[in-house]
Amino acid sequence: MKVMKFGGTSVASAQRIRHVADLITATDEPKVVVLSAMAGTTNALVEIGRQLMAHHRHEALTILTKLKRKYEEETRLLFSDAKSYDKAWTLVNETFFFLEQICYAETFTLFDEKKILARGELLSTAMMLRHLADRGVHAVGLPALEYMRTDKQAEPDEAFIERHLRRLISHAPQGTRLFITEGYICRNAFGDIDNLQRGGSDYTATLVGAALVADEIQIWTDIDGMHNNDPRYVDATSPVRRLHFEEASELAYFGAKILHPTCIQPAKKRSIPVRLLNTLAPEAPGTLISLDTDKDMIKAVAAKDGITMVRIRSNHQLTHWSFMGKVFSLFEHHCIPIDMIASTEASVSLTVERPALPESLRSGLCQLGTIEEEHDLTIVCVVGDLEWENVGFEAQILNALSEIPVRMISYGGSDYNLTVLVGAEDKRRTLLALSDHLFRRSS
Ligand code: ADP
Ligand code: ASP
Ligand code: MG
Repeated sequence: MKVMKFGGTSVASAQRIRHVADLITATDEPKVVVLSAMAGTTNALVEIGRQLMAHHRHEALTILTKLKRKYEEETRLLFSDAKSYDKAWTLVNETFFFLEQICYAETFTLFDEKKILARGELLSTAMMLRHLADRGVHAVGLPALEYMRTDKQAEPDEAFIERHLRRLISHAPQGTRLFITEGYICRNAFGDIDNLQRGGSDYTATLVGAALVADEIQIWTDIDGMHNNDPRYVDATSPVRRLHFEEASELAYFGAKILHPTCIQPAKKRSIPVRLLNTLAPEAPGTLISLDTDKDMIKAVAAKDGITMVRIRSNHQLTHWSFMGKVFSLFEHHCIPIDMIASTEASVSLTVERPALPESLRSGLCQLGTIEEEHDLTIVCVVGDLEWENVGFEAQILNALSEIPVRMISYGGSDYNLTVLVGAEDKRRTLLALSDHLFRRSS
């Protein structure tokens, strides 16, 4: 079994949906296809939700009307035969009727917001299934809301997912080789409609792949694999052909947008290779993420914005070990993960991915010592074979940053990364400096 996930740009129009249909029907091997919403849809739905929260019904309806027009056009292009168009439009229009009802309702809740967000993936999947039926291809839908589930910590409930996904597949007509499912959407521990966070279709793909112990999970997108730097900031980037699970996890977690931050975990747990491929150039080799990797080299750089740093200087009323213990338990109590840590005998600096600390955490920390908080920072993460025996790579990285005011450095947490903290205003030149010094040969 293979899992193939197609992102928003891969299903952005009737033409792209046709192309994906060609790709998924090119071979006869069994597969589960995971689809994102058409590009731009989730952003529009997020904006509709935001406007409704602010009681701006008119603005919400304006965005909805524009979105509906796009779907009308693409549905017409995808279903040229009048009969199949009518069937498809009835389905698509039901969604727009539902969204209009929400816009006109008296109240708008967080539950409604999640229901709105789920519509993008429900639409693209319904359109693909109808298109495949028109082609005479037998495919079965696996409704994500019936098997994709998060637990009370908002983490995927892997046992539930496996049990229910296998159940749905076993109920399909015998001989079914093609399954289509929605990425991103799920139900939470209380059974309400929810999602796996932005970019979550990647996570759906790896969770499905792990649950079914797939041979391979393919993430099809608009670029030929993981590049060695962020192509949105640096021009001369090039694809990395092989990454270890750990390297890919670090890059995803620290901002390489091509992958959802935690999507490598399920694949890593079951050692299922993940291949990143380009829908626009299906023959390109892309990137293979597995247990194998190329040793002795720095692979790539990624950056994550919106970071806050806090430095706590002990008031020396506690021993060093209980000071540290108290600091960490306060973060645990607030369920806030810490990204970077640096410490001295009397102080500890930490970073968190949020615009500021919550007031209750700040006041808890103040009881342990004096605190300084800095906002609008960026973590830049360099990933590669950084085992301690490999002398010289750390020096190369820090040399590259000789002109950059670096706020914090973290190294040694794993064999795969060295992370620095810089001001958001220095992000671009940090990425460029690292590209120039580390990858000049390949760019
Ligand atoms: P999809 O809609 O297919 O999920 P995304 O937009 O989520 O696609 O991810 C692909 C985009 O990620 C690329 O177009 C690229 O701009 C961006 N990106 C950021 N960092 C990297 C990187 N290191 N390698 C490749 N792409 C990256
Ligand atoms: N449609 C969702 C988003 O735009 C999920 C995804 O594309 O992976 O975030
Ligand atoms: Mg994505």
